[in-house]
Amino acid sequence: MTEEVYIGIDLGGTYVRLGAFDAEGNLLAIDQALIEAQRGPQAGLARIISLIEAMLDGLVAQGGHFELAGIGFGSTGPVYPETGVIDNPYTLPTWENVSIFEPLQTRFGAPLTLENDADVAALGEYWMGAGRGVKRLYAITVGTGIGAAFILDGRIYRGVTGAHPDGGHQVIDPSGPQCYCGLRGCWESLASGPAIARQARARIDEYPNSMLLEMTGGNPAHIEARQVAEAAVTGDPLGLAVMEQAARYFSLGVANFIILFLPDVIVLGGGVMDSLDLFRPALERMTADIDVMVPARKVRIVPAQLGYHAGLYGAAWSVMQKVNGTPV
Ligand SMILES: [Zn+2]
Repeated sequence: MTEEVYIGIDLGGTYVRLGAFDAEGNLLAIDQALIEAQRGPQAGLARIISLIEAMLDGLVAQGGHFELAGIGFGSTGPVYPETGVIDNPYTLPTWENVSIFEPLQTRFGAPLTLENDADVAALGEYWMGAGRGVKRLYAITVGTGIGAAFILDGRIYRGVTGAHPDGGHQVIDPSGPQCYCGLRGCWESLASGPAIARQARARIDEYPNSMLLEMTGGNPAHIEARQVAEAAVTGDPLGLAVMEQAARYFSLGVANFIILFLPDVIVLGGGVMDSLDLFRPALERMTADIDVMVPARKVRIVPAQLGYHAGLYGAAWSVMQKVNGTPV
C-alpha cells in the first residue's frame, strides 16, 4: 500500500529543519542542517531539495511505499504565501525576493505552501499541540525575537494584502530602547532573549556580587538570557530584578491581546519560555487586573507542547489542508 507523506519545513536564520508526516500526523522522520544564507538562495534551495530527497529515500529504505503528497514551508518573514516568495534579507542575508515554489515545483511537482514561521508554529500547536482544536488560539514564541500568530477557526488570521500582523513590534514603552524596526520600546526589544541579556549587562554595576559575573568568567559582555533566568531561579538579586522586569513587560503585551481578542488559549513557546515559571506571577497579576473589564481569567495561558517541532507540524498541516481543499 502506498502511503501519502507530507514534508514540513521550518526555515530560520541559522537552521533549516524538516519533518516527514503521514496523513494522521505521525512524525516519520526528522532532519536539520545549517542554512548558511550568505552563500546565496540558490545554494540554500539546492541544499533543501537534497535534504528532502534524502528524507524520502530514507523512508523508502525503511521498507515503506511512500508518495510525496505535499511540501509545506514556514519561513522567517517577510514571506508572500500567495506567490511563494521569501523576501527576508534581514535574517536570511541575500534572500531577497526568492521564489521557493518554482524550484520545488520543478523538482517534485507536489502541492506547496509557504507561511510565516510564527504562523506555522501556531498551526502546529493547533493541530497536534497545546491548542488542539480550540476556536481562538494565540501563539507567542519568545526567543531572539517575539513571534506571534492568531489562529481563528483553524485558519491563520491574515491582515490586509494577506500580510502577517507582527505583534512582536507592538509598543509597550514609548520611552524604551530603539528597535531595528524604527519604533521605540517594542515588545521584543523589552522581553526577548537578547533584551533580557542586555538589561542584565546594563545593570551589572548595581549588583557587584551577582553570580552572573562568576557564570560569565567575570565578563558581563558574555551574559545570555538563559543564564539570567538560571541566576533568578537560585535567588540572585540581579537575575530576579531583570526577570521580574522582563515578565512585567511581557505580560503587558499579553494583556493587550487578551483585551482586544479574548482568545480561548494563549500558547507560550520558544527558548525564553523554558523559564515560564519566572513569568507566571506577573501574568497572574496582569490577568487579575484586567479581569475587571473582560473575562481574562477564562483565557488559558499554557506552555507549548511541540517545542522546536511546532513549525514542522504546522507547515506540514498547512499543505495537507490545501490538498484537502480547506486551505488555512
Ligand atoms: Zn520593533
